[in-house]
Amino acid sequence: MTGEASAELAGECARCLDEITDEIVVDFQELFVYEDHHDPSEEDDEVSTLEGDLVDLEPLLRDAVVLALPFQPLCEDDCPGLCPECGVRLKDDPDHTHEAAIDPRWAGLTALQQDQQDQD
Ligand SMILES: [Zn+2]
Ligand SMILES: [Zn+2]
Repeated sequence: MTGEASAELAGECARCLDEITDEIVVDFQELFVYEDHHDPSEEDDEVSTLEGDLVDLEPLLRDAVVLALPFQPLCEDDCPGLCPECGVRLKDDPDHTHEAAIDPRWAGLTALQQDQQDQD
């Protein structure tokens, strides 16, 4: 059996958490054997069998779609993501900046400097 299936996708951008909807088309191909031709002593899980005259496409489609899904879906290829400081969407506000934060490793020195100024 060979075929083509299309599916609607809904998810969120891995960087900015925006909702994404998309559509994918996957090709699938699988060999099905008749149940009575399948030797059950062969314990071969890889072989798909017909159920009567019918084919259960669900596992086949699920595998095909899951393999075609992007590992990290993005709303656009160069999505800038979220600001690590305040969490704003950089796409909405690409130029916003923050006062340069004092590196926490130097914070102790600031306190020391403050003490000395108090003493002077
Ligand atoms: Zn995004
Ligand atoms: Zn920010």
